[in-house]
Amino acid sequence: MTTPVTILGPSGRMGQALIAAAAGRDDVRVAAALDRGDSPAQGKEVAPGVTVTALIDAALAAAPVYIDFTMPAATQAVAAVARARRVAAVIGTTGLDAATDDAISGLAEVAPVVLAPNFSVGVNLVLGLVAQAARVLGPAWDAEIVELHHTAKRDAPSGTALGLARAIAMARGQDLAQVGRYSRDGEVGPRPAGEIGAVAVRGGDVVGEHTAYFFGAGERIEVSHRATDRGIFAHGALRAAAWVVGKKPGRYDMLDVLGMR
Ligand code: NAD
Repeated sequence: MTTPVTILGPSGRMGQALIAAAAGRDDVRVAAALDRGDSPAQGKEVAPGVTVTALIDAALAAAPVYIDFTMPAATQAVAAVARARRVAAVIGTTGLDAATDDAISGLAEVAPVVLAPNFSVGVNLVLGLVAQAARVLGPAWDAEIVELHHTAKRDAPSGTALGLARAIAMARGQDLAQVGRYSRDGEVGPRPAGEIGAVAVRGGDVVGEHTAYFFGAGERIEVSHRATDRGIFAHGALRAAAWVVGKKPGRYDMLDVLGMR
């Protein structure tokens, strides 16, 4: 069965990757494309018979599911309209604020929503590996995450780095809000035991790299993932779109889609 999907932000890095990836798959087809009114992509044909529009309602009417890799403000606005239409969603936008998270929760009350800071199969496997390492090693091993991304990335640390930090905190029975540390500058003093650090490096055209370090006494473990092609996120999101249609309302993540729970 081929699932029609609406793509948000077709002029963006991920939007373009989604359209390219969809062209090579038979489980999904692009039915509509929605971008900002002032996007240079407006009116362009991005898939056979699909021209970019700025009309949210019309774009969401074209398919039972939409894929959103845009910006938090767009995510919030589209989720509100999708709620009224009960359209399923696959959301990859990161750096979400509380109001946007509320809008997603509102949509998830009436439709199924897959939300993931990273749609690659490899990163979702790494999340499981890192949680297992944290469970075995405990807070006596210092956990730090380093992430690298291209210069245009807006949020820091990355959603994936925060996801890794959350997985470590949960595995150790900690609250990330209490132990997460995202910057060090000046006289910071000794590292508190149990802290989980995450630092962002920005440069060039790096698609996305994450390393979780576990520092013990006399030894160190590093678990790394390096993305070299946005296609991995695009294919994961398209797979999620085909999967989510017809599911019960609620929030799902990539572990649900991959059957890794
Ligand atoms: P980008 O800046 O290249 O593209 C953003 C797109 O959103 C643009 O096309 C822009 O015109 C569009 N947009 C902005 N406002 C809009 C609106 N109101 N309606 C419709 N479209 C709108 O960014 P990018 O590199 O493609 O990343 C987008 C988001 O996806 C970021 O939050 C990034 O962190 C995230 N991301 C997530 C994953 C994942 O696996 N979850 C992977 C890569 C990127």
